[in-house]
Amino acid sequence: MSDLVTNLEKRREKKNVKKEYLLIENEIDCPRCYGIMMLHLEFDLPGYFCEECDFILHLTRY
Ligand SMILES: [Zn+2]
Repeated sequence: MSDLVTNLEKRREKKNVKKEYLLIENEIDCPRCYGIMMLHLEFDLPGYFCEECDFILHLTRY
């Protein structure tokens, strides 16, 4: 699992994070297991990934 996180970190570093994303918190509480979810970008969509239970929360705009 640590390898996956490392890959996500590397991929995020390569991307130019848009200014608006900086307003999003890097860590939030997981709604499923109450662990810590880390912010990551997947297909240019911001979301959170939980290491504890592999829960992925995508941030979408309405
Ligand atoms: Zn979790």
